[in-house]
Amino acid sequence: MRLYNTLTRREEPFTPSRDGTVRMYTCGLTVYARGHIGNFRTFVALDVLRRTLRHVAGFDVRQVMNFTDVDDRTIVESRTARVPLREYTDRFIAAFREDAASLGLEPVEAYPRATDEENLRSMVEMIQALEANGHTYRSDGSVYFRIATLPGYGKLARLDHEGIKPGARIDSDRYDKDDARDFVLWKATGPDEPTWDFGVGPGRPGWHIECSAMAHRLLDGSPIDIHAGGVDLVFPHHENEIAQSEGASGETFSRFWVHVEHLLLDEGAKMSKSLGNAFTVPDVLERGYRASALRYALLSVHYRKQLRFTWGGLDQAEEALKRLTACLARLDAVRGGAAHPEVTARVEAARRDFDDRLADDLNVPGGLGVMFELVRYLNTAIDDGGLGEADARLARAAFDGFDRVLGVIALRGAEETLADVPVEEIERLIAERKAARARRDFAAADRIRADLAGRGIVLEDTPTGTRWQRQ
Ligand code: AMP
Ligand code: ZN
Repeated sequence: MRLYNTLTRREEPFTPSRDGTVRMYTCGLTVYARGHIGNFRTFVALDVLRRTLRHVAGFDVRQVMNFTDVDDRTIVESRTARVPLREYTDRFIAAFREDAASLGLEPVEAYPRATDEENLRSMVEMIQALEANGHTYRSDGSVYFRIATLPGYGKLARLDHEGIKPGARIDSDRYDKDDARDFVLWKATGPDEPTWDFGVGPGRPGWHIECSAMAHRLLDGSPIDIHAGGVDLVFPHHENEIAQSEGASGETFSRFWVHVEHLLLDEGAKMSKSLGNAFTVPDVLERGYRASALRYALLSVHYRKQLRFTWGGLDQAEEALKRLTACLARLDAVRGGAAHPEVTARVEAARRDFDDRLADDLNVPGGLGVMFELVRYLNTAIDDGGLGEADARLARAAFDGFDRVLGVIALRGAEETLADVPVEEIERLIAERKAARARRDFAAADRIRADLAGRGIVLEDTPTGTRWQRQ
């Protein structure tokens, strides 16, 4: 298995450092709104990484994905909504779980929240270790990391020590720092802000400290094998995580750093919640697309290349999936006939090639190419009567193997089973939605619509009432 490592800017052979188990940390969602499909591009790509490590490379994986459930935005938004912070972020964690299930993401081993007490305590312990090692200072009740104390600072982002530019999220800190490049570890809080006091004074954690502390706690110390996230996190977030973790322990924090390129809009703008130009998974389902087509579209471009999102791209993904499932249906219908050695050889070669492509820094487009070559070959063999039942079974097993990594065929199958929603249930949900709208609970009404859309039922509101149809 080879992986591109942002730290060295090279592809390198990858093996876990301890007992065949990959210890991997992935930065998860900041839960102040429903995650958008740009976030899910990163999560789908990292799901493919996880599946490749397990099913192609044969390692076990212990993966942690956090929820950032306290920061400036979650606090502001929960206040605006007049809902306590924890309750407010619960909603978007629930929405993440729904969307992750729709997109067929394998559950990871731990989903810690920054505001869980054991996590806050481990953040405070790390800050205390940093204080003991002389990396911090206090100002107006906040604790800062002094980057001048760490000669290696900037090694991930390849910034020279003097020329580091503060990133957007650092810039927005309204706190007093000795040096604009320093970053906050523990923030003094205002009168009605959520506040915790576990040993470094009352306040709340800075954004970066949570990932360092939770990775350390839940992955059993340094160095972890892989730390991953979207490319926007290289600086300052991941650079600062390295500073905190290595400043506290004196050991390498993570051996590999994996970064997924962005999902862009057609015009080239980054899709982002704060720019207000983001589509969510339910938005896509409401347009009549299946989550399996979205998953396919998101994974079909190499993770280190930017991906432009278009509806036409989703149509193409749907076409590709249909071609694939049609071939599988044909294979399942083949009856009788002996195995043909040339078919066996061809299928075995495709299996090997697929695995080789994936093991080469997750070359998914290459893997898809191999898979569709096989689809073409098998269709022709069936047309020519040159495919026996034993060949068909072998080929079917090969597609099952591809799908352990891609996760699109199984997802499509699950969608078709779900699409058999009984009429009484549809009508009951439409009535519930009507009641929700009558009490102006549009969020609940939208959830019902999205839930049905996810199961292949599309609603249309007309002057005479709501109509529905199956896709
Ligand atoms: P956030 O909720 O902003 O903390 O982001 C959660 C994850 O989504 C991080 O790994 C980000 O790097 C990633 N991300 C944010 N926007 C995009 C995008 N447009 N394309 C791909 N990944 C993104
Ligand atoms: Zn993080």
